[in-house]
Amino acid sequence: MTEQKLAHLVTFGCQMNEADSELMAGLLEGMGYDCTDDPAQADIILLNTCCVRETAENKVWGLLGKLKRLKRQKPELIIGVSGCMPQQKGVVAEIKRRFPHVDLVLGTYNRHELPDMIGRIRSDRAKVHEVWEEAGALPEGFPVKRQGGIRAWVPVIHGCNNFCTYCIVPHVRGRERSRRPEAVVEDVRKLVEQGYQEVTLLGQNVNSYGKDLGSEMDFAGLLYRLNEIENLWRIRYMTSHPRDFSERLVEAVAACDKVCENFHLPAQAGSNRVLKRMNRGYTREYYLDLVAKIRAMIPDAGISTDLMVGFPGETEEDFAQTVDLVRQVRYDQAFTFVYNPRRGTPAAGMPDQVPDEVKSRRIQELITLQKEIALGQNRALEGSILEVLVEGTAQNDPGLVTGRCRTNKQVTFLGTPELAGRLIQVKIDEGHLAYLAGHQV
Ligand code: SF4
Repeated sequence: MTEQKLAHLVTFGCQMNEADSELMAGLLEGMGYDCTDDPAQADIILLNTCCVRETAENKVWGLLGKLKRLKRQKPELIIGVSGCMPQQKGVVAEIKRRFPHVDLVLGTYNRHELPDMIGRIRSDRAKVHEVWEEAGALPEGFPVKRQGGIRAWVPVIHGCNNFCTYCIVPHVRGRERSRRPEAVVEDVRKLVEQGYQEVTLLGQNVNSYGKDLGSEMDFAGLLYRLNEIENLWRIRYMTSHPRDFSERLVEAVAACDKVCENFHLPAQAGSNRVLKRMNRGYTREYYLDLVAKIRAMIPDAGISTDLMVGFPGETEEDFAQTVDLVRQVRYDQAFTFVYNPRRGTPAAGMPDQVPDEVKSRRIQELITLQKEIALGQNRALEGSILEVLVEGTAQNDPGLVTGRCRTNKQVTFLGTPELAGRLIQVKIDEGHLAYLAGHQV
């Protein structure tokens, strides 16, 4: 009787990394590994890493140190590192030098080579550290092991050509490569057959979808195509780059009944001077105009964003422009970040780095303002009726169920677990900072 092999995957970072982990979990399952949450039980431990911020990297270095003890207790244990960290120049050598107990290293371009690499480690009792310099053709047709449930990630484009000066992503995820439309459609069809009701289309910049496919199909075209799939209830997508958000795309969101009216538009800053130094490729005027166009075509649209404070050279005047942009747009949600230099990015070498105390004062001011606005936006929904896709029982109260409305706000209401996976009309009674409370109608 063959002994059950167990794999423990730890995922850091963004949704794209989660989707990569689901692919690697599928490959491991194909090799006979079951997933375990307990590293002490595992035969392979794989850290799928992120390097978008120093904090994410430090967590990995810390964990690799701790895993040394497990390796000593169980020498046949395979310890692996994958994802964006080893894709950076010099990191493979650093892992070899600092953590010789790491058996397996792979990057973001060769994750589909995992079975072959593990096979070689097992057969040759050797270490395999291989990171591809160049991204090859996008791997298709590999098994994906998802958590189950009603919502699924579907990568549609990999890489980014934008080279924002603070961002490491183009250096570790390569140039934009779109999956063929028929491969995406097939994926989504299969997911619907498996009982998923909502898909989120993933890419560092989904709006560029199809640009590398000649004139075959652009992102709006893909949305129209997926909107035809029966028994699929909702389509979401992330992340968009405002510069590439065309009027045609806004029209597609308005016209496609399954595409949720939720726009995540990372502004990053409100000052044209800072946007230029960030190489964002648009002005505050262009951005505000885009928001106005969206709201003119889709009045109930939900708009969220990413904002950064403390970019090198950011003056009080520049920061005031960011604050003013937030006041004007009135975001439903904003993810706020303090700039921190990433080695290998142009901004890290820029003069006029902003002192930490100034950064923390600015981020506090922005968070306080955005909380006021988000609460106001949620209170404004009191009395309205929203369609909620129920995900399950609320964590802190078994008598309540929770789900998301089309603009991606969390909604809780009295209900039984059987409602999971169903679309329910909910009347909103109370708007809170981070969620809405209501009752089924
Ligand atoms: S659009 Fe800019 S911030 Fe986003 S992944 Fe690309 S380079 Fe990074």
